[in-house]
Order: sequence, then structure tokens, then C-alpha cells
Amino acid sequence: MKKYDYLIVGAGLFGSVVAYELTKTGKTCIVIDKRGHVGGNVYTKSIRDIITHKYGAHIFHTNSQFVWNYICSFAEFNRYTNSPLANYKGKLYNLPFNMNTFYQMWGTISPEEALSKIESQKLEAKIDIPDNLEEQAISLVGRDIYEKLIKGYTEKQWGRNATELPAFIIQRLPVRFTFDNNYFDDKYQGIPIGGYTPIVEKMLRGSEVITGLDYFSDKKYLDSLAENVVYTGEIDRYFNYCYGTLEYRGLRFETVLLKKRSNYQGNAVVNYTDSDTPYTRIIEHKHFEFGSQPDTVITKEYPVVFQPGAEPYYPINNCDNNTLYNKYLDLACRQNNVYFGGRLAEYKYYNMDQIIERALNLVARVRLRKNE
Ligand code: UDP
Repeated sequence: MKKYDYLIVGAGLFGSVVAYELTKTGKTCIVIDKRGHVGGNVYTKSIRDIITHKYGAHIFHTNSQFVWNYICSFAEFNRYTNSPLANYKGKLYNLPFNMNTFYQMWGTISPEEALSKIESQKLEAKIDIPDNLEEQAISLVGRDIYEKLIKGYTEKQWGRNATELPAFIIQRLPVRFTFDNNYFDDKYQGIPIGGYTPIVEKMLRGSEVITGLDYFSDKKYLDSLAENVVYTGEIDRYFNYCYGTLEYRGLRFETVLLKKRSNYQGNAVVNYTDSDTPYTRIIEHKHFEFGSQPDTVITKEYPVVFQPGAEPYYPINNCDNNTLYNKYLDLACRQNNVYFGGRLAEYKYYNMDQIIERALNLVARVRLRKNE
């Protein structure tokens, strides 16, 4: 008999939901994370009483009432609605693309006018079936918006030409012919009062937790502690990069406390959509919680080239990477008592609600397999 039923590698949202669900059914779990804190990328910490999202803005949104009720059982959420602005060379535009954006771009007043502007730009571009991000974007909103609000941002973010990126990335963004600046179409949205760290701490309450411990520094010993492993890290690293390395987009966050400045940009998120500004966006954290503190904290988000060993952020789901991932997936399926899940192990661009669904799904699958 080993000491624990499960070793969970990674104390991010995925690993924490899995740990919570397993401990609820009486299983013993040890959760380890190489970072010095729990929460993975949803980690938040307080700076001068301002909840700061250390690894970029995390706005919870979902269409699933089940997932919403689930997350709300761990924290109270505020009424924050994401309505970012785009700053293109000093001019501001509303996002997502809606009647406000069309008015700011073209002066169009009615949906018909805006639609016909887009249609004429689409016709000019002669796109039949869009097969990359550029074509998809022009088909959705026309060339002007593509050039000013999409191309620069996207190429900075992904480090590639928009013609080499898959169309689905842009399909995340709504296009509306109403004056509605809500970035998400989902039914439920908000920011947890007090941040995400207390949520994850609640989920991990029943588990043994060790932070600052890299699984691969002593894999054999750590594996010997538990009957099963749930691995949420990079799948290629688990298999020692035997087929090659998967590509990610890296990020660098520059967080600054601005003392005695109570309001820096008047909005939580401002995207810089030109290609010259080196960062993609500036987050002003206090606006996530309607804060009235005398100081403010801002974070500039710089996309960077990912080097193996650095923090991986966005999986680059192009054809080559997906093919490589499928080879690793094949190996993963053949492991005994090792389960893979989450953004890095599944190599997918997941939102938080999808992560919760995937984690609950994994626990259900494991329990089924074990006839529990
Ligand atoms: N995007 C853009 N301009 C913007 C915001 C988003 O072109 O001002 C595109 C870009 O390609 C980005 C994608 O839309 O990668 C998805 O944006 P989202 O805000 O969902 O990205 P995330 O917040 O996950 O980085």
C-alpha cells in the first residue's frame, strides 16, 4: 500500500478541482507544484489591498449553469463585465467588435450601414472560405478593423503572420450589430471577491500540498508515494521530449505599483493593437473589483518567444504541433494509472470554465475505470 491514492502534479485550477473531487470521495491526495504558490496561472495576490492577477487577467465566464454554480460554491463573485478598449495609435475603440466600434471606425449609425461596409470590404478581398486567421477576420469585420484592431495585436501575441494562424483563434471574439461592449457572450460572468487564490486554497484543503517542488527533480520517489498520478504539466516534458518539443507562446508580465495615483486608464483592460507597441495590453487590476484605493497597480503584458524550460502560456495549435501532440497523446493513453489533463497536458487553449469541466470529467472517468 502506497501512502497516497493520488499524486497530483500541478496545483493550478485543473489539479485543484481534481484534488477537491477526489478527497470528497475519501481518496488521499498529495498535490505538488514547482512554483512557490498554488493556483497556477489563476494565482492572485494582494498589493496595497488591490487583488492583482499575477499571470494576466482572469475573468471568469461561462454558459454552463452547472459550472457557474460549482465555482460560486467556493466564492462570491462580483458583477464585473469585461469591456476592454483597443488603443490604436492613440485612438480608442470599443471591443468586442460591435456597433460602437463600427461607429468609431466608419461613423456608421445603423446596423445596415455597418453590415454593408463589412460586406463591401469582404467582397473586395475575394475570400470564399476563410482558411487562416487573416481571411477569417476580414470575412467577419472587414479590412479596416482587421488592419487596425486585429493584425498588429495578433501577430505580436502569436509571433507569427496572421496568414499562418488558424482561423479558430479569432472565432472566440463576438461580432455584434448592437451597441453592446460585453466581451463575452456567456450567460454568467464575474470576478471572485478576494481573488482566485482563496478558491484554490479551499479546493486543496483536504490534500497534502507541497509548493516549490519540481516533479522531475525526483520523479521516481514522488511516483512511489501514490497509487495513481494526475499530471497537469507539459505533456512533451513528461515523455522527455522524445518526439520533439511542442511550441508555446511565452509571456512576460511587468507589474508596477503606482503610488498616490488612483486611476491610471479608467478601465481594467486596454489592448494596444498596433505593431510598434511591444506589449499587447495593460491591465489595471483595481477595476476588476471597482476599487477606490488611493494607489493603483498596472501590468503590461509582453508576448515573448518561448524557450523550452520557460513558462509556457498559449499552446500554438497549428497543424504541426497538433500532429506532434497526438503522438504524445498516444503514449499517454498507454500509461498505467497516470492521467493527463489541463491546458498543458492536453495542449489546448482552454478557458477556466472549460478547465473545470475537463477536471470533473477526468475524475468521473477515473472513478468509472476503477468501478467506484
Ligand atoms: N484579438 C485581436 N485584437 C484584440 C483582441 C483580440 O486581434 O484587441 C484576437 C487575437 O488574435 C487574440 C484572439 O483575438 O489572440 C483571442 O483574444 P482573447 O482576448 O480571447 O485572447 P486571450 O485573452 O485569451 O489572450
